[in-house]
Amino acid sequence: MSNSDGKDTKEYPCISCHTNCCKEYTIFVNAHDIYRLVTGLGMEPQSFLEIYGAKDFDLGIKVKEGLVDLALKQKNGACMFLVESKDVFRCTVNEFKPGVCKSYPFQILDGKLIQMDSKMCPVDWDTKEFDAMMSTHIKKDEAEWKFYNDLILEWNKKHWIKKPLDAFLKFILDKVESSLKFDSNVV
Ligand code: SF4
Ligand code: SF4
Repeated sequence: MSNSDGKDTKEYPCISCHTNCCKEYTIFVNAHDIYRLVTGLGMEPQSFLEIYGAKDFDLGIKVKEGLVDLALKQKNGACMFLVESKDVFRCTVNEFKPGVCKSYPFQILDGKLIQMDSKMCPVDWDTKEFDAMMSTHIKKDEAEWKFYNDLILEWNKKHWIKKPLDAFLKFILDKVESSLKFDSNVV
């Protein structure tokens, strides 16, 4: 693993970078991300979710509160789950963190794992080292986003702005739970 000067780094590079990506990005989340955080942390979704105005009219969630998207709340200019101690920043929900956090800074392009073309991340990652793990994860994450987008379409068709966000959250969490039960029965 090397940094932008091409020098070998022994320490995991995210530590010396002070976790810029957790401060600069808004972390949009899907139904599975929310489900993992709710069940893993025992928190109500409303305690860690922030409502944003939706950019995509077709895929925005239509609830009483408006046409919205959901992301993680921020605190002191960073994700609320990022904490600093002894000058080291740490994700406090590493086990349950959203799929997009696990993927960054990789993406699949034309079937190949590559590093995103982003000036934010100062590290030249060795994509070969992460290929097997990341390719599997990114495909799973893509499937979860498709599942979520299908749920939003179903919700919007049935409820079009009549019900509040709380009802939407219950709807998606129930759907994820049913799908996970179904998957475990199939196996
Ligand atoms: S992924 Fe890149 S930008 Fe994010 S913490 Fe690690 S080194 Fe920093
Ligand atoms: S959930 Fe963790 S990894 Fe993701 S932005 Fe927040 S602190 Fe960073």
